[in-house]
Amino acid sequence: MTESTEPLIFDGHNDVLLKLLMAGGRPAVKGFTDGRDGHIDLPKARRGGFGGGFFAMFVRSPTDLDAKMEEMTKPTYDLPLPPPIEQAEALPVVMEEAALLIQLEAEGAVKICRTAADIRACLETGVLAAVMHIEGAEAIDPDFRALDVLYAAGLRSIGPVWSRPTIFGEGVPFRYPATPDIGGGLSEDGKRLVKRCNELGIMIDLSHLNEAGFWDVAAISDAPLVATHSNAHAICPHTRNLTNKQLDAIAESDGMVGLNFAAAFLRADGQMRADIPLTTMLRHLDHLMDRLGEDRVGLGSDFDGALVPDKIGSAAGLGVLRGAMREHGYSEELIKKLAHENWLRVLKKTWGQ
Ligand code: ZN
Repeated sequence: MTESTEPLIFDGHNDVLLKLLMAGGRPAVKGFTDGRDGHIDLPKARRGGFGGGFFAMFVRSPTDLDAKMEEMTKPTYDLPLPPPIEQAEALPVVMEEAALLIQLEAEGAVKICRTAADIRACLETGVLAAVMHIEGAEAIDPDFRALDVLYAAGLRSIGPVWSRPTIFGEGVPFRYPATPDIGGGLSEDGKRLVKRCNELGIMIDLSHLNEAGFWDVAAISDAPLVATHSNAHAICPHTRNLTNKQLDAIAESDGMVGLNFAAAFLRADGQMRADIPLTTMLRHLDHLMDRLGEDRVGLGSDFDGALVPDKIGSAAGLGVLRGAMREHGYSEELIKKLAHENWLRVLKKTWGQ
């Protein structure tokens, strides 16, 4: 199988900022530049041709991660939604994560990108492109003061919810098998958030949102509909994946979906186990392209936030995925679209530049 580091991959989702925070914050940044345990660091990015992506700022629920992973290896599961987190608790965590991203930029490890042109320049010069993203908007107050400040700091993407309710809406629980049609739609504050993000040019991320919330965003937003890290429900009937009806709405809006590498959202059996043939990823990509077309599909690895296929392992293993795409018969032009061109197209439409 041919491996390569080209075309560079711009990716829809990673959780490395949380991992750096958990590893001690500022002193852990050295691990990002020199190498660390985990999915993303500069040496791994170079080896795998990882050109950058959305860097999530995320506030952890105090749940037992090992117990959650264990539960998700069973044939069926239904994890309860973690309780809501107050803004007073969430904002300092997001500040620390934003400061880590700003420190990474100050040390020359990444560039915080505010436009599609910024990202393209990074891909051309080999600087890691970072889009500042919030996964779960607990840190945002209903008067949007925090939103305005974070926008000024570079925030260009926001998921109103993680799998946990916020003042804006409700996320899906980790449940298999099940549809994402669980719970109510956006709150009035949630609807105002969508409009404010449209005005500012902040992308709304539909991954994690329940189906009622999805349709509310679809009705209100004037931007292309985007799910940064979700897969096809027709192949893996998990709550975190998108039904064909949702995919058709995304296609109609000229938005896109980033393929999530998380085992439980890829495998037809919904289990969080890493022994996955790469053909499973290609089945999702084929299905997504059947519904969305070749211009509306990309990657959204969930690196440093999920158990990924053992054949890829980390950002260093992305060459294996390119190789699998070539063996599957994807043209070089199509691989380039999936790797980064589609993200650049949709982000330019969303951000206006
Ligand atoms: Zn996520």
